[in-house]
Amino acid sequence: MTSQRLQELNTSLNCFLKVFDVPPHTIQTGKLDGMRIAVKDVLALKGERLTCGSKILENFTSLYDATCVERLISAGALVVGKTNMDEFAMGSSNENSAFGAVRNPWDISRVPGGSSGGSAVATAIGSCDMALGTDTGGSIRQPAAFTGTIGFKPTYGRISRYGLTAFASSFDTVGTFSRTLESAARSLEVMSGKDERDATSADVPVDEYSLSLSGNVKGLRIGLAEEYFGEGIEPDIREAIETVKAKLVAAGCILVPVSMPHTKYSIAVYYILTTAEASSNLARFDGIRYGYRTPGAHSLAETYVHSRSEGFGQEVKRRIMLGTYVLSSGYYDAYYTRAQKVRRLIKQDFTTVFKSVDALLTPTTPTTAFKLGEKLSDPLSMYLNDIYTVSANISGSPAASIPVGLDRNGLPIGVQLITDSFKESVLFSLAKEIHVDVLSRLTL
Ligand code: GLN
Repeated sequence: MTSQRLQELNTSLNCFLKVFDVPPHTIQTGKLDGMRIAVKDVLALKGERLTCGSKILENFTSLYDATCVERLISAGALVVGKTNMDEFAMGSSNENSAFGAVRNPWDISRVPGGSSGGSAVATAIGSCDMALGTDTGGSIRQPAAFTGTIGFKPTYGRISRYGLTAFASSFDTVGTFSRTLESAARSLEVMSGKDERDATSADVPVDEYSLSLSGNVKGLRIGLAEEYFGEGIEPDIREAIETVKAKLVAAGCILVPVSMPHTKYSIAVYYILTTAEASSNLARFDGIRYGYRTPGAHSLAETYVHSRSEGFGQEVKRRIMLGTYVLSSGYYDAYYTRAQKVRRLIKQDFTTVFKSVDALLTPTTPTTAFKLGEKLSDPLSMYLNDIYTVSANISGSPAASIPVGLDRNGLPIGVQLITDSFKESVLFSLAKEIHVDVLSRLTL
């Protein structure tokens, strides 16, 4: 493809908020020499705007690099642009960006998924080799499934969150979109590891993930939890899962039926705890310390109220209100405390199941990419899109969406693999067995 055509696509699909003709950093040499990377605009890149897809940060410039970005640059990666996203990473369709929706290159009347939709699309069309995304409840895996890219969310704490604008701090995870498993593995090797600037970053040795791509999966036990195969899964997705199962069996894996009884509470727990954390994290955007300030206020209180009312979009305001409500003194125990307890039970389901299996196989999403506008007026149906992805954030487990084929409408299908914490290598070795390069069938 010519670079002019690529530029046209970047513009018409609206996947970038900024494209750099020349990398805005010194070019270094290392393990990732020349890898073109795009950065979701929720991650800091020194001297560049950091909008988080929000009007409130439209003119905010970052003073430093996020640790993950800094490590990639030090290893020789070249930053090609910053990608569009749902405002403050809240959304499943990328329609919540203050800078316009992103479109799906497989069918421009459809959404690319969210919240890292820009990163997914930039990767799918080949504008970069790897794009950084963030995943709080599925924001890497769901758009990866919708665009035919590989979406990898490592264990919570595996990659530093320093320089990532917080949405829900106990869920937020940095991860990758890529066309190949090799790019994902190599990037993860570079970004992972303890960072003194993030107390929640894990001090656990980093494996050479790329080595596991030639690993043997014989004898690995793959759990199939009935709770992940409920109503509403499209028949083509069910069929794709059957094909994947057959491939894994042929490679010597053992399929094991398992049960994760608390899965049904995942969406409720997720939307109580993440809105609570978001309402607290987003309190800093008050019109004084960062970003947008209303021009028409006559008092401090008015400055706060109007700056926030004018600066935040509808979905972000909905989450702040929900979060404030579940944290309010009369309801704290009924919602927040209770959801924390159920979080523990859901986590326990994972701990138990990983005593008997090496990985879980599930659909990433119940459907393939839906139409723009289809779910906008119904936030609950939008939230339900995350039904299979949020649990891995509740537990902190590593999870990936791997493209495995196309549905009858020619739209990509992704399946999800989840492993126990810090077992990313196992995830990569299984992903290698089932990955289908659907992107070679994308006509642009
Ligand atoms: N779609 C989910 C939400 O809106 C997930 C977001 C995310 O992972 N950042 O909360």
